[in-house]
Amino acid sequence: MIRVAGERVNDLFALAASESPRGPTGYSDRYVRLARKVGMRYNVRLLPEYRELYCRGCSTFWVEGRTVRTRLRSGRRVRTCLVCGRQRRVQLRGPTTRDGGEVGSPGSALRDNLALAEAPAGIDDEEESGDDDG
Ligand SMILES: [Zn+2]
Repeated sequence: MIRVAGERVNDLFALAASESPRGPTGYSDRYVRLARKVGMRYNVRLLPEYRELYCRGCSTFWVEGRTVRTRLRSGRRVRTCLVCGRQRRVQLRGPTTRDGGEVGSPGSALRDNLALAEAPAGIDDEEESGDDDG
């Protein structure tokens, strides 16, 4: 039964996505509301990608530029629902380090240079050819 409910949720989200380009018909939001209802009743976990698609405050199906605004702010993606104003922040997995330091900052470059200065212990620098065919 739970498996059926999961499929139903998937179907509803697919329907919501297919309805959304047609304009504000209201069907998309209804499908989202239904999907959430089914999910809650049968304790079905919504897929992470689905959770990105709607507002948790008012169940509006999010269409970029129409019902949601997405902004990048200090390594986070902030999505603001244009219907109820609820914000959803998503931590982005990017090239930035965990402590907030930027890649390629002067500090890390200096550290790299120091590491390079210490590293070549047994390497003679006769040839600088980077080609590796042989
Ligand atoms: Zn909302």
